Amino acid sequence: GVRVTGAAREFDGRRVLDRVDLTIDRGEFVALLGASGSGKSTLLRGIGGLDRGFTGTIEAPSAKAIVFQEHRLMPWMSVWRNVALGLRGGDTEARALRALDEVGLAAKSDAWPSTLSGGEAQRTALARALVREPDLLLLDEPFGALDALTRINAQRLVARLWEAHRPATLLVTHDVEEALLLADRALILRAGRIAQEIVVDLPRPRRVTDPEFVALRAQL
Ligand code: ATP
Ligand code: MG
Repeated sequence: GVRVTGAAREFDGRRVLDRVDLTIDRGEFVALLGASGSGKSTLLRGIGGLDRGFTGTIEAPSAKAIVFQEHRLMPWMSVWRNVALGLRGGDTEARALRALDEVGLAAKSDAWPSTLSGGEAQRTALARALVREPDLLLLDEPFGALDALTRINAQRLVARLWEAHRPATLLVTHDVEEALLLADRALILRAGRIAQEIVVDLPRPRRVTDPEFVALRAQL
């Protein structure tokens, strides 16, 4: 799992994160909420090992996969080659195709990224993350740029994939409903600290119309 203790980050003398403590257990799904500019992506990058400017301690598994708000696919490679990129061991094409099948994109394996819809590109990015069988999955507003219906389908897909693979998962989002739909716990980042923690003790799959869901939603 992940263990963050007293993590702080300053940019140009301005303290964005101030002694953040958080843990993500193996198999746990944690959502990180907070206003724009509250430091969510900064914290995710720190946990992902992409930012060495932190003080405090951040322990995280080395087998990580990150999905960003934008897909970051290589435009000069086909969809399946993007998914297979950097894979080690044999059978990389078959593994990439299986991962694409899991996200419903088997038919697009030979397509160019530029021909994909936004939702398809994000599903490809998810396949690229999953094929690595990560111990830690970091998702930074992966559905932020999608239209409402596509986003709902993508959320359902993530719920299903997470159930099937159970990596420790950190989802950064500013969408409270998304957090409560997907996560075991939701953390709220405010003024550089984890200001609130909500345990989402609801059975899956969850629906925004379930009375229990509505009641929990109303607490926020
Ligand atoms: P959003 O919801 O808009 O994505 P966020 O919570 O992810 O916001 P961050 O991207 O983590 O916010 O940024 C937090 C603060 O840190 C912002 O004020 C941002 O300007 C600042 N910041 C982030 N990265 C850098 C950097 N490399 N150099 C200077 N300031 C930075
Ligand atoms: Mg961000």
